[in-house]
Amino acid sequence: MLFALCSFEKEDIMRMILLGAPGAGKGTIAKLLTDYDGSVQISTGDILRGAVKAGTELGKKAQGYMERGDLVPDSLIMDIMESRLQETDCKKGFILDGFPRTIPQADALKKLLEKLKLRLDLVVNLDVPRAVILDRLTTRRTCSNPSCQEIYNIKSKPPTPDGKCKKCGSPVIQRADETEEAITKRLETYNEKTAPLIQYYQKERILKNISSTSSEEIFKHIQEALKGK
Ligand code: ADP
Repeated sequence: MLFALCSFEKEDIMRMILLGAPGAGKGTIAKLLTDYDGSVQISTGDILRGAVKAGTELGKKAQGYMERGDLVPDSLIMDIMESRLQETDCKKGFILDGFPRTIPQADALKKLLEKLKLRLDLVVNLDVPRAVILDRLTTRRTCSNPSCQEIYNIKSKPPTPDGKCKKCGSPVIQRADETEEAITKRLETYNEKTAPLIQYYQKERILKNISSTSSEEIFKHIQEALKGK
């Protein structure tokens, strides 16, 4: 049985997972896709950073793990996702960015989608060389406004000369988990806990592997993969 439930009606909306190491470009690609088809990007990283900034209970529980470059416990993440996937904007389709991150999360997502009677169309793995990833992560900067979180790069997409976001004017910062030590830890965590999901979705026959560093090219490959769905 494929991940998708065959009895579900074919709809014109897309539900997708983006896999890839930190810095592989999941956020950038997700933004391109949502601008194109009106679906919503759900980034567990953005949700968690928003909660930390707002000082909510969830934020307090998650902060330590995040700053060390460790994963937040699966149970916290599943609580977030169970309610997020039932919000009305998800009716237009969604792109999951940074979730699932472990095999137990993928198993729990499968059950959750079955419960909500939602079909998953595609899992895309962005396969980017480690050297490119390291360079991107150390030069990445993020808008500090939780409802903006625009991503910048000091080499290829700088903020304003005084370090402000070009979209909303808030200060652009280097994330606490983007020190060299935390980056190394995040990549290790990725290899150990998240990379096995590539095989997991390969077995479900829903995976599309894309080895490219050009957003435009990746976008084209995804469009092609979705055509057959
Ligand atoms: P990355 O650039 O590392 O992919 P994210 O913005 O996706 O960063 O996530 C930042 C941090 O938030 C992760 O290092 C982790 O601590 C936590 N996090 C985000 N998504 C998950 C998840 N699905 N499961 C567990 N922890 C998560």
